[in-house]
Amino acid sequence: MPLEFLTPTYMVQSIYDLSVPELKAHGITTVLTDLDNTLLAWNNPEGTPELRQWLAELRQGGIELVVISNNTNKRVAKAVAPLQVDYVAWSLKPLPRGIDYVLKKHHLNPHEVIMVGDQLLTDVWAAHLAGVRSVLVKPLIESDMWQSWLNRRIEKQAKKVIFKEHPNLKWEKSLREHTNH
Ligand SMILES: [Mg+2]
Repeated sequence: MPLEFLTPTYMVQSIYDLSVPELKAHGITTVLTDLDNTLLAWNNPEGTPELRQWLAELRQGGIELVVISNNTNKRVAKAVAPLQVDYVAWSLKPLPRGIDYVLKKHHLNPHEVIMVGDQLLTDVWAAHLAGVRSVLVKPLIESDMWQSWLNRRIEKQAKKVIFKEHPNLKWEKSLREHTNH
């Protein structure tokens, strides 16, 4: 199957759609997430009330959250400070090293972890290489200053191929498997 390494396990509209009961039902104890345009949008660096509510629910439910970002330590530290979330910066996704680091440090089985992100070429690919399930989300805003024009073009073409190959893979409001092959 072409582009399997860029094919997400799940597609949900937004990271906020991942509810604690649903994560638990899927055996997930730890959510790894991209930062830019997945958790936060550059034009709203403080985060939305929706984000704060979601973080509070995860905390109450005992689900761990770790940001895995390709951005610099300075930028990520500043971004997550008001949210009080653990992070790995400069992770060089699609390399799996950021995810591998968290798996090792927290003694996690890959089966209890998901990687959430808005880009196939970094987030989803890194998840594949690390052997964890991936969740593709819609970018919070269309114009992501952290993503290059070329990257966007490649993503678009890759999505065309993947959606054709997996017609059941669609934007959902929950973690649904696309078992159509
Ligand atoms: Mg992103």
